[in-house]
Amino acid sequence: MKKVLITGGAGYIASHTNIELLKGEHELVLIDNFINSSAEALERVQELSGRSITFIKVDLLDSAALDSVFVQHPTIDSVIHFAALKAVGESVEKPLDYYTNNITGSLNLYSAMKKHDVRKIVFSSSATVYGDPDEIPVKEDAPIRATNPYGHTKAMMEQILMDTAKAEDWSVALLRYFNPVGAHDSGQIGEDPNYPNNLLPFVSQVAAGIREKVVIFGDDWDTPDGTGVRDYIHVTDLAKAHVKSLEKLANSSGIHIYNIGTGRGYSVLEMVKAFSEACGHKIPYEIGPRREGDIAEVTGNPAKAKTELGWQAELGLNEMVESAWKWQSQNPHGYNS
Ligand code: UDP
Repeated sequence: MKKVLITGGAGYIASHTNIELLKGEHELVLIDNFINSSAEALERVQELSGRSITFIKVDLLDSAALDSVFVQHPTIDSVIHFAALKAVGESVEKPLDYYTNNITGSLNLYSAMKKHDVRKIVFSSSATVYGDPDEIPVKEDAPIRATNPYGHTKAMMEQILMDTAKAEDWSVALLRYFNPVGAHDSGQIGEDPNYPNNLLPFVSQVAAGIREKVVIFGDDWDTPDGTGVRDYIHVTDLAKAHVKSLEKLANSSGIHIYNIGTGRGYSVLEMVKAFSEACGHKIPYEIGPRREGDIAEVTGNPAKAKTELGWQAELGLNEMVESAWKWQSQNPHGYNS
């Protein structure tokens, strides 16, 4: 059994990754500060997997508490680093909170890893580091030019790891997620945002009658139906990419950067229509103004992950919206339902 430390271990993507890791030879130590997640997610992960996990409430800004996690668990072999603030709009309003949480938190983590000689890390990055790419589907060697404080923190967290990997002989996987959506096929774990900033959680809440209508941010983009196009990826596929990345890091050092998407884009209108079919009724929407900083279309080329990790997305649009609806309808108020 290899012991893996998961930061932000109770969050949306971590919960699904925990389930996939627990199917194999991994023992998990989770840390989270619960500012944007629920302990109930961990209960459900344990029920679904039939295995227990070690959980410690720790904030990455508390370097002494973080150090004691490594002291208590000297056999930690690798880290998956999810913990971060992630709302683009909020990051524009509160940049210092974002830089402090994401950068200082990551520096504390990387320093504790160095101190305890843990040299393998999978980092939860984002396609947001590409900004508005010149070519789509974007490849991993495209220029990094994030356009908001959240994106800047992800790019910096990547850069710090790249420099450290070189100097300290670490093995690092930077996973650039496209648009994670959907839920576990049990409907028991899923995305439970304080406020839904992203499209699909918002559509889910409208479908459930919690919110009145979806506002589509512009229908005059240079795309086939005029609404924004993104590369949506099922969270279970994304979770599996982490398992493959850990396998990769077990026998190769250096820096490995992968796009984790499907390579296929869907428009906002296509997503709303697919969701209506999944929930069986019309979803009210209106066309509103463009959202500041938005771009027309982003999709990712996932070929490198296929060649080097042996990973590719297996689930399609139907599985994404059907699982999202199952989670939403079984848990109308998320983990507090
Ligand atoms: N979007 C929308 N209404 C919403 C939320 C999002 O029309 O309430 C659009 C947004 O303009 C983009 C797509 O949905 O074209 C995905 O947005 P999201 O915020 O989920 O992801 P990101 O823009 O970060 O890729």
